[in-house]
Amino acid sequence: MNRGTLLIHNGHDRDPATGALGTTIYQTSTFYRKKITEMQEFDYSRGANPTRKVLEETIAALEGGAKGYAFGSGMAAISSVIGLFATGDHILAAEDIYGGSRYIMDTFYRRWGLSSTAVDTSDPDAVRRAIRPDTKALYLETPSNPLLKITDLAACLDLAREANLISIVDNTFMTSYLQQPIALGADIVVHSATKFLGGHSDVISGLAVTRTEELGQRLYQIQNSFGAVPGPWDGWLVIRGIKTLKVRMDAAQKTARRLAEWLLTHKNVAAVFYPALEGHPGRRIHESQASGAGAMLSFKTKTTEQALRFFDRVTLAATAPSLGGVETIASYPVKMSHINMPVEDRERLGITDTLIRIAVGLEDAEDLIADFDEALA
Ligand SMILES: *Cc1c(COP(=O)(O)O)cnc(C)c1O
Repeated sequence: MNRGTLLIHNGHDRDPATGALGTTIYQTSTFYRKKITEMQEFDYSRGANPTRKVLEETIAALEGGAKGYAFGSGMAAISSVIGLFATGDHILAAEDIYGGSRYIMDTFYRRWGLSSTAVDTSDPDAVRRAIRPDTKALYLETPSNPLLKITDLAACLDLAREANLISIVDNTFMTSYLQQPIALGADIVVHSATKFLGGHSDVISGLAVTRTEELGQRLYQIQNSFGAVPGPWDGWLVIRGIKTLKVRMDAAQKTARRLAEWLLTHKNVAAVFYPALEGHPGRRIHESQASGAGAMLSFKTKTTEQALRFFDRVTLAATAPSLGGVETIASYPVKMSHINMPVEDRERLGITDTLIRIAVGLEDAEDLIADFDEALA
């Protein structure tokens, strides 16, 4: 099946018991034991729940992995995955990963004896040089947040395999519809399902998919023991969101491209970051590993005052954290997603106070352009 079809026909789209096309919400914490000596698939909902199982099998199929696991948030998925590592292990991570992922590596996990270093993964040679004898994981995100830098997945994942590292890719921005890192060699894919997969700004949820059964079993132990699982209702919202992912992504990325091209021509805009733009340094690599440029873009105004005024004036785009919903969201990385990043690091990475990140939604492009035109005037 093609990806668009797979999003809808997930193997659970017809309930054999009732014929229901909609997924049943099993709002239950426990299941009675039919025979005291026999273990059952469903016993207690922290370990397994039928609604969650639909979501887990759906995301595993979409990513082409052996096992999928659902969590109460993207950060719950990511911190559970990092729980696979032990004191003394070193994690090599892209320098511009999601701020929350960086934060847990630099604080809690550091305290528990895991070290991590940040590297510019858009340069595979820099990745090669940064691998140490104690390195156990390579953590990637492409396009990156908020500057949409591109990492060559195949090249970096090859390096990880040669060095025996577990590779992890945060696929939130692209989603399984546009990019499938496991096919390129990744061991684990993580998602904030809060974003495009859920798609309606109404649920916090996270997912992880493993390439192998073995890695899946290890992650399952963490999911079941730490218990950062979503409730059936939240799982159901993500299941429903995934069914419209293709049409939402197709529409949003079309508008994103128009908006990016329009921003390039604006006199108060100093730079635009969007992987489909001619001048984007990672464009060719991105095109080789993803089937679309996505709905995230960022741009820099010429002055800080222009950026602050943009947020005061913009009306159609909501000023908020998050992304991937039906409504366009404008966010300010230095005061939102990257507020915990040391200023020196932000400056070095180009996350300046003129930088504005846009998560393009499903409004008509003309209306968004008119809104931005007023906000940037
Ligand atoms: C939002 C986000 C996360 C964290 O997910 P939550 O659902 O907010 O916990 C992780 N990675 C990326 C790329 C994100 O955008």
